[in-house]
Amino acid sequence: MQFDSFTVKESPDNRTTRPHILPIYATSSFAFEDIDQGIGIFQNIESGHVYSRYANPTVDAVAQKIADLETHGLNMTAHAVMTSSGMSAISTLLLGVLKTGDKVLSQANLYGGTTDLLKSIFGQFGVETVFANLRDPEEVERRFREDSTIKMLYCETPANPTLACIDIQLLSDIAHKYDAWCAIDNTFSTPYLQQPFAFGVDFIVHSTTKFLNGHGNSTAGIVIGKDKEVMRKKVWNAMKLVGTNCSPFEAWLTYNGLKTLTLRMDRHCANAQTLAEFLENHPAVAKVNYPGLASHPDHALAQRQMRGNGGMLSFELKGGLEAGIACMNRIRFCTLAPTLGDTDTLILHPASMSHLSVPKAVRLENGITDGLVRVSVGIENVADIVADLEQAIA
Ligand SMILES: *Cc1c(COP(=O)(O)O)cnc(C)c1O
Repeated sequence: MQFDSFTVKESPDNRTTRPHILPIYATSSFAFEDIDQGIGIFQNIESGHVYSRYANPTVDAVAQKIADLETHGLNMTAHAVMTSSGMSAISTLLLGVLKTGDKVLSQANLYGGTTDLLKSIFGQFGVETVFANLRDPEEVERRFREDSTIKMLYCETPANPTLACIDIQLLSDIAHKYDAWCAIDNTFSTPYLQQPFAFGVDFIVHSTTKFLNGHGNSTAGIVIGKDKEVMRKKVWNAMKLVGTNCSPFEAWLTYNGLKTLTLRMDRHCANAQTLAEFLENHPAVAKVNYPGLASHPDHALAQRQMRGNGGMLSFELKGGLEAGIACMNRIRFCTLAPTLGDTDTLILHPASMSHLSVPKAVRLENGITDGLVRVSVGIENVADIVADLEQAIA
């Protein structure tokens, strides 16, 4: 079956020059010239497409582009499978490489949906997750030492919504010492700001729905891995059989968004830094979480493993929950929406929205207080963003 990426070099219409922009292959299957070709392709002797759940030229081209971004300048190659969403990227990876009895070691402050997926779906099939403090290397090492069934370390950095960072190199070294995989969700940073393969991870997942697409108009995900055989025999196989494939149209929207990734990320970072500094100096604000501020506990680590501090920040008003809700109700220019990574500035209240399913005690332990407000800082004129928050807080 076709696995290797497909670059569109020729127009299907041979009277024209080739398309400048990647075409959308809206086809469920691909025709064989004759029976021999069909047999050859099915036996993996000849390359060619078969069926769009297995592989689609549009989807493959975008998958390879993102894999190339993750390995840019690292003198290595990676292999990718695009999926229907970020959640399906995570589930496809876990379904592909883990089995009943294996355990995952992870952190409590994951994306809310991921915590829920690990507990409620994978738990049902005997793949349990141990939640530990991944910022404490001694605890991580002890967990591995005491439990040889931990087969994957799964992490997120910076993590939602306090932007807490963890040392990727340190974690992947410990995981490998105990023969486990190390996987990371790189959605918040994108490869432009952080390349986890440089720090030894085995797998990277993204919700491309967020910064990679960047325009809030598509839902998709991706799994990227260093080992071609593992990616083909395990991850791609799981994608094909579970049917978590990405639609060519969603892949195409992602491809379109990727063209401006660096421009957008530079602006997200600059706007977030300005807004974070404004909030930190505001008398009504108790606390601002942004890795670009010297006051952030992981400021030094972020400067070491990231090229920029990203577009996400969160803050807490001195008035707590009531003040936070009142502020959100006065927002006019920004948008109250439960997503992130768009060109528009988006505001969310984690305690009542993204982290609703996380028990309050666990939330508080991870800095997700009742009054915390999360901002995905957009690429608008920063003066407009600051002015909106200023009037909303006043
Ligand atoms: C949104 C998000 C996901 C889930 O992605 P979907 O595309 O919504 O399925 C996973 N991880 C992180 C960090 C996210 O922000």
